[in-house]
Amino acid sequence: PNNAEPATEFDRLVAIDHQHILHPQHHPSEHEKPLLWTKGEGIYLINDAGERFIDGLSGMWNVSLGHGRRELIEAATRQLETLDFATAYAGSSHRPVIELSELLSGVVYPSIKAFYFTSGGGEATDTSIRTARYFWRAQGRLEKSKIIARKLSYHGSTVGSASATGVDEFSDGFGPRLPGFLHIESPYPYRFVNPNPLKTQGQAAADLLEEAILREGPETVAAFIAEPVQGGGGGILVPQDDYFPRIRAICDRYDVLLIADDVITGFGRTGRWFGLEHWGVNPDIVQFAKGITSGYVPLGGIGVSARIKGVLDHAEPAKRWWHGYTYSGHPVGCAVAIATIGVLKKEGLIERTEKVGTAFLRRLQAELADNPNIGDVRGQGLLAGIEFVEDRATKRTFPGAANVGPRIKAELLRRGLCTRVLSDVVCLAPPLTATEDELDRIASIVIDTLSQPF
Ligand code: PLP
Repeated sequence: PNNAEPATEFDRLVAIDHQHILHPQHHPSEHEKPLLWTKGEGIYLINDAGERFIDGLSGMWNVSLGHGRRELIEAATRQLETLDFATAYAGSSHRPVIELSELLSGVVYPSIKAFYFTSGGGEATDTSIRTARYFWRAQGRLEKSKIIARKLSYHGSTVGSASATGVDEFSDGFGPRLPGFLHIESPYPYRFVNPNPLKTQGQAAADLLEEAILREGPETVAAFIAEPVQGGGGGILVPQDDYFPRIRAICDRYDVLLIADDVITGFGRTGRWFGLEHWGVNPDIVQFAKGITSGYVPLGGIGVSARIKGVLDHAEPAKRWWHGYTYSGHPVGCAVAIATIGVLKKEGLIERTEKVGTAFLRRLQAELADNPNIGDVRGQGLLAGIEFVEDRATKRTFPGAANVGPRIKAELLRRGLCTRVLSDVVCLAPPLTATEDELDRIASIVIDTLSQPF
């Protein structure tokens, strides 16, 4: 009967969970029997039954130093004991936000000069968009407000960031996107169909931006926003080497700001501090979150170029950049970010990620090369995507009803690896601190799982 007493403490908690929690991307069928996490230790998450699982996605692509790092716990504790909160609104500042900004200046793209902090990535996207529009309006260019983004991108779930997001499901059920948001095709090496064989695939994909700008009128376009490596929307799409240099040139040609959404790719995930470094490209605005605190406390933000800072600095007081969040520059977030950057530097984790990430990807590629259901194995640093297909020759995907993704996810979990399977892509983003043995173990679980009949 429905009113029976729950049999166990687990059942009791799950019943409350079902009644009172709306989970992100909520659907009750997917949390019938949720994993109830009670502890984190290094690369492992431990559930209420004491079972250990490898945290193959570093939480939600954020716990890049693994769980339980003393330096981060102590930084948060010390900060809470000294100054729990003070606003960073104009006229008020504090040591953690100042020290973090100084540290960031040393590791971010050379083009970036000043920072604004948020609580997470979606707010960072909104802040970038508002700042890009403000930048043009403050210079009298009132029409320059459109934002061009890409299909299969993910930039967040606020009204503004969901409008930039290129996955339609995030808008379809919620009324239309905000006006003035456009999406071009992604540079998806495995699936991009090059319309012009005289160009490389990367050039052709980048030129879609130029076509969109010309179609809309350059005087109406404020910014182009792109993840250096597309993560949560497309399933780890690494662009061609000539894509971003050409994007930069197009943005310069038409006076369009380039926003790098480094929310996943920032702080070493791809083997560089920030993603566009792979191609020597400098954005006008960078946005970050997730790895900046290794996920221990919420923090995100944006960095802007000297040109943008100049416009903000020289506005009339009444027409200032009217933008603000209570939690901008939260002292505890800043203190943990300082400690995170300290560990990344002290342990040489950025360089190490490039090295071990390359070996990790090579092994996956080599051992899945003959698998008839694996279409593409791609990645950069410790970010990898394995795309499965029903038919390798035509790249045809499995029909949704076949439920292949959920079955693979469940089988990985049964073998001790907790990660995300995004429609047709197994995503991997293990902690940057994972040892080579641990990375081998992850690769073995994935290879063994995918070697079973689909
Ligand atoms: N931008 C990118 C590239 C992301 O991957 C995400 C989250 O996954 C976001 C923005 C949104 O960040 P948040 O979930 O912290 O709002």
